[in-house]
Amino acid sequence: MENRAVIRTELAIIGSGMAGMAAALFAANRKIPAVVAGGAGGFEYASGLLDLWGLTRPDQGYCKNPWQGIGQIAKIWPSHPFSKIPEPNITQAFEELIAGLKNHGLDYTGLPRENSRIITAFGTAKPTYRLPVTMEHNATALKEKPATLLLDFNGLREFRAKFVQQVLASAWPQIRVAAIDFPQMSQRSELFTPLMAQAMETEQVQDKFAAAVKPLLKDELFLGLPAILGIHRSQDILNRLQKLLEVKIFEIPTSPVSVPGIRLKETFKRALTGTCVTLLPNQRIISAASNLREFCLDTNSQPGIGTTRIQAKNCLLATGRFLSNGLISGPKGIQESVFNLRVDQPETREHWHGENYFDPKGHAVNLAGLPTDENLRPTDKNNSPAHENLYAAGSILAGQDWMRNRSGTGLSIATAFYAIKQMGLSQK
Ligand SMILES: Cc1cc2nc3c(=O)[nH]c(=O)nc-3n(C[C@H](O)[C@H](O)[C@H](O)COP(=O)(O)OP(=O)(O)OC[C@H]3O[C@@H](n4cnc5c(N)ncnc54)[C@H](O)[C@@H]3O)c2cc1C
Repeated sequence: MENRAVIRTELAIIGSGMAGMAAALFAANRKIPAVVAGGAGGFEYASGLLDLWGLTRPDQGYCKNPWQGIGQIAKIWPSHPFSKIPEPNITQAFEELIAGLKNHGLDYTGLPRENSRIITAFGTAKPTYRLPVTMEHNATALKEKPATLLLDFNGLREFRAKFVQQVLASAWPQIRVAAIDFPQMSQRSELFTPLMAQAMETEQVQDKFAAAVKPLLKDELFLGLPAILGIHRSQDILNRLQKLLEVKIFEIPTSPVSVPGIRLKETFKRALTGTCVTLLPNQRIISAASNLREFCLDTNSQPGIGTTRIQAKNCLLATGRFLSNGLISGPKGIQESVFNLRVDQPETREHWHGENYFDPKGHAVNLAGLPTDENLRPTDKNNSPAHENLYAAGSILAGQDWMRNRSGTGLSIATAFYAIKQMGLSQK
């Protein structure tokens, strides 16, 4: 017979993306015993930037002040999750999360209550609220446009400095591009940023990298490169290389698999080690039942481990949208995958998208998700909580379009914080 472990806990968190891991950190800070069951994914796609609110309407351009944008939400999208959360709680959520990451070696920065703009791998400028310190000079360089060297690596396909230079050339003529072989990898036909970042953890590779770059620098003040400055000690690596090369160095976020996303996930894991929160990595909940007192959740079978049954008094659903299978689209429309909860969605599939792909109003399907009450508890067809102690957080929530509003991580952090707060379980 297959092994089955049973864990009894106060709180089960389903999903280990940004919303699930942020909730886990907030639970640990409040000494709430919790178990996180999470399928892989989420972080590997993320840029590592913590957006809060970047765009209200395309014709108005990017928001300089995200709080101004958030202040307009209740009027424009009354059912948006942000309209349920008092602003001081959103501030508190960011402060607590950033302090937690900093305590475990990942430092974030940003302007007091404004968005910064940074260069992406497409050469475009993107607004974000909080950025890793390894990208701090990215924002400064984009603003001041000084003499800058952008670095290409032979064999790396996911980043092209030459392309970034071409897009920015008219506004920023002082960008020069140079290419090097990445130390100890010149034999490889193709490079990947996670491999390069891992290699960068050693001083030997850092020294070789510095020796290869030094002769290429002329009178540049800044050096830009794809996000490869290590996984666990990115800030130390940045500081060391800046000293060796005597320039300000900045990272540019790359497409998935994203090193800054992996850094975030690894930092959360470190922050939760030795706390009252247990992680069950890569374990998906495949069956869920509940009665008035508790939830009974079974994970899929793991080689050598078997399955795990989690019995919990409270549950937070943070399983994401279509990409993570929190929502599934089928012939009957969109379904929620764990509890089969009610999903707010367009009447038929024909109503999912408007005729114009670039419609400034966006597309109805992107607002689909779980409707909730004021406490972020998913509601049934009578608008009553589906379960007294079931909450939801992150991109699975209805009434928001995080991709369009550049609010992905902020939505996850704020709703995770508020759901944990509204549970009223704090042991502190
Ligand atoms: C390509 C890309 C780029 C992005 N860039 C940015 C950016 O620049 N700035 C920004 O702020 N945000 C960005 N985001 C958004 C951000 O990374 C998160 O996706 C967002 O915050 C949503 O997080 P989430 O936790 O709600 O969902 P997800 O990140 O989708 O996580 C859901 C998790 O739940 C797990 N899961 C699903 N079903 C189950 C189950 N039955 N049992 C257990 N686990 C389950 C999944 O495996 C997954 O790990 C980006 C996202 C993507 C995809």
